[in-house]
Amino acid sequence: MAKTIAAVATGNSISGIGVIRISGDSAIETAQKVFKSKDGTPLSSLKGYTAKFGNVYCDGESFDNAVALVFKNPKSYTGEDVVELSVHGGIFIVEKTLEAVLSAGAVPAQPGEFTKRAFLNGKMDLTQAEGVAELISAQGEEAAKASFNLLQGSLSNKISQVLDELIGCSALMAAWVDYPDEEIPELDEDNLKAILQNSASSLFDLLKNYENGAVMTQGVDTAIVGRPNAGKSTLMNMLSGTEKSIVTHIEGTTRDVVENSVRLGNIVLHLSDTAGIRESKDIVESIGIKKAMDKIKSASLILAVFDSSDILNDDDRMLIESCKGKPCVAVINKTDLESRIDLSQIKAHFDKIVFISAKNNEGTEKLEQAVKELLGVEGFDSSQPLLANRRQKLCVSNAYDYICRAIEGAKAGITYDAINVMIDSAADELLSLTGKKATEEVVNNIFSRFCVGK
Ligand code: GDP
Repeated sequence: MAKTIAAVATGNSISGIGVIRISGDSAIETAQKVFKSKDGTPLSSLKGYTAKFGNVYCDGESFDNAVALVFKNPKSYTGEDVVELSVHGGIFIVEKTLEAVLSAGAVPAQPGEFTKRAFLNGKMDLTQAEGVAELISAQGEEAAKASFNLLQGSLSNKISQVLDELIGCSALMAAWVDYPDEEIPELDEDNLKAILQNSASSLFDLLKNYENGAVMTQGVDTAIVGRPNAGKSTLMNMLSGTEKSIVTHIEGTTRDVVENSVRLGNIVLHLSDTAGIRESKDIVESIGIKKAMDKIKSASLILAVFDSSDILNDDDRMLIESCKGKPCVAVINKTDLESRIDLSQIKAHFDKIVFISAKNNEGTEKLEQAVKELLGVEGFDSSQPLLANRRQKLCVSNAYDYICRAIEGAKAGITYDAINVMIDSAADELLSLTGKKATEEVVNNIFSRFCVGK
């Protein structure tokens, strides 16, 4: 019998309501020791999906109004009996209600334990459980859509189709090996190759979309670089809508890397506003400049900012040089001023050039378009099944490799039972992805990254 667990399901902040979730065989009995409905109806007599208004109690004394919502197993999030107590969302009241529930016999839930129980009770597979975690941490529209699709089973369904093909194929091959005298017409060599090619191409599509998906859902590590006073901090402020970077007209103000996550349309940029790149004798500034150069090397996207109201100088040329071969957009700033910049030099080195006035907040849409084109995500479709993390990617890429080896084997005419070993290995990887064959260690690792209360 699984212990009855309890945790605060809502955030640790002052809010309209706070929810304490209780799950397990004695969830209703436990909740009843803490909650009394106004009309005296015991929670144990309620049908599932029923709410009751009443009070919560500690040591026989009521301390808040509450609504108790009862779910009966298996029709609940965890698949167990669940009671959710909604109280007023003050931090003290929520904590006090949880304390009362724990005193009544529940134990504190571990991170992700509700979702782990849902997985163990067959309410969702591992990819869907990961969808829950992704949805909670989603920072933008595309991330939220992709995680919701994961939670709805888009990836599970795709993987099930491939598994059906592989397992069907494996069964036929096993039959063929065991009963070679029987005619098994479906399994001629062409048919076998066609099934394997089909499975391989489904997995290949998932792998191909992984990088784009990661850009859209996890965001892009982005460096804003440029000579002092080009307008880097003003651009960062334009994108973030705050005054996070200090903007002054004195050169060399931004001496270190300032980090901030902002949304550019539906892409999240993890921005680093760096020290202006120039020759400097100031030790502190030089460290900042070194960090800026390192950032150019490591960032997935570089916004190289130039001041259009001035001619290009040695610092600009140094920047152009260090951006060579990097994923870079040239951002020509201060277009509200008269232009003095030699654009032919910029055009010779950058494929993507965008004109903005950071001070006047002009040019965001053009910048978004250029960034999407550069990263190759203009046609990104979050409604397609997506691999959400490295674990999922590794399982699919291993399965893909096994299938490719099986195809090669079939072409080379190796025995069916040898091919079958590879197909079974591919299927095992996919079963590990959905959790049907995942090790306890993998499962524990996934849920340990959840928040408490989910
Ligand atoms: P950074 O050193 O590259 O970070 O440059 P800042 O963002 O601190 O900007 C330097 C100066 O240029 C400040 O006085 C800004 O107000 C000004 N500035 C930045 N962007 C623009 C712009 O688009 N137009 C104009 N006219 N001035 C700008």
